[in-house]
Amino acid sequence: MKNKNKETQTIRTQAARTEFREHSVPLYLTSSFTFESAEQGRALFADELEGNIYSRFSNPNTSEFIEKMCVLEGAEDGFAFASGMAAVFTGFGALLQAGDHILASRSVFGSSHQLLTRVLPKWGITSTYADAARPEEWESLIQENTKMIFIETPSNPQLELIDLEWLGKLARKHNIIFSVDNCFATPYLQTPIQYGADLVIHSATKYIDGQGRVLGGVIVGRKDLISEIRFFSRHTGPALSPFNAWILSKSLETLPVRMDRHCSSALALAQHLDTHLEMESVLYPMLPSHPQHELAKKQMTQGGGIVTFVVKGGYERAQKFMDALQIASKTANLGDTRTTVTHPASMTHSKLTPNERAAVGIFDGLIRISVGLENINDIIGDIEQALTASA
Ligand SMILES: *Cc1c(COP(=O)(O)O)cnc(C)c1O
Repeated sequence: MKNKNKETQTIRTQAARTEFREHSVPLYLTSSFTFESAEQGRALFADELEGNIYSRFSNPNTSEFIEKMCVLEGAEDGFAFASGMAAVFTGFGALLQAGDHILASRSVFGSSHQLLTRVLPKWGITSTYADAARPEEWESLIQENTKMIFIETPSNPQLELIDLEWLGKLARKHNIIFSVDNCFATPYLQTPIQYGADLVIHSATKYIDGQGRVLGGVIVGRKDLISEIRFFSRHTGPALSPFNAWILSKSLETLPVRMDRHCSSALALAQHLDTHLEMESVLYPMLPSHPQHELAKKQMTQGGGIVTFVVKGGYERAQKFMDALQIASKTANLGDTRTTVTHPASMTHSKLTPNERAAVGIFDGLIRISVGLENINDIIGDIEQALTASA
């Protein structure tokens, strides 16, 4: 199967068939696995044999999900987690120690920001933020104790991009672990390992499930780093449940088909809004008006499913617009079959002052749309009528 396309490999990767000759993979809801002999138990614990012992360490459903993620990201090995944040935390906790420093891109996911600024400092791990828009500053922010570079591209919600090839080279030059949260792009649109990333992290809750059902997370990447992550996880217990792994593994089989539709609909919406009179600005990586359009074309195959715009009329207009929507859901999640809409200034970024928000590009009228799989004409129609009703 190794010489086949990734889509084919993903669909055809499956836990070994049992004596029942099932076609679809069964759900292995078991906390532990039996030993055929005391000797086998000894050898499994001694790492002389590979095999399942306990579902906190590994489970056939979880292993299948990880194997598919490794195929998609071009990774050597991986470990799966109960949520995206469990993955992000373990990526730091397993590999860093007191005195280490992280260089991170400024616009990271809200909870990743809390980890960097409030949790990790408790254990003496510090961090500095760098601006995606000022790559020339990054090298001067590297300290002697910088052990990891951690970024998201495209970022949430401003869809800023970071040049993966450039940063991969910088990390290599300074012998720093390069870790990328690839949640927004998914491995179908962008594979950071190809550009030198050592680790790729996902919230599987988003496009990987793609249907708004379960939480999950995963880290894939360099074998030596994953083996430290596996040791840490085996003894701290953030493992993904087999049930959620079973859902997520099946979801991966439709990821390319779903992403094609998310992307074509998001592009159509972005193009529709780009010249709209009610817009102050529209951001989408595959619009020629995006400041990093050339970079988007270089490292992403399509623009993704998120469109961000600033509506005229600021905070109040944005709230009225949200309330006037008839199809799109008001919810903080993204990457669902259903179109979802968020107003960061009053929701995810409401704890910042207006000045702090403006400094990171979260304007009062900014709206983030995760374009779903409904018919694109209905999505555009809903947004049009809400723009009119809120004018
Ligand atoms: C949602 C998200 C996370 C956290 O994932 P959970 O599964 O909600 O824990 C991390 N990074 C990004 C970019 C996300 O969008």
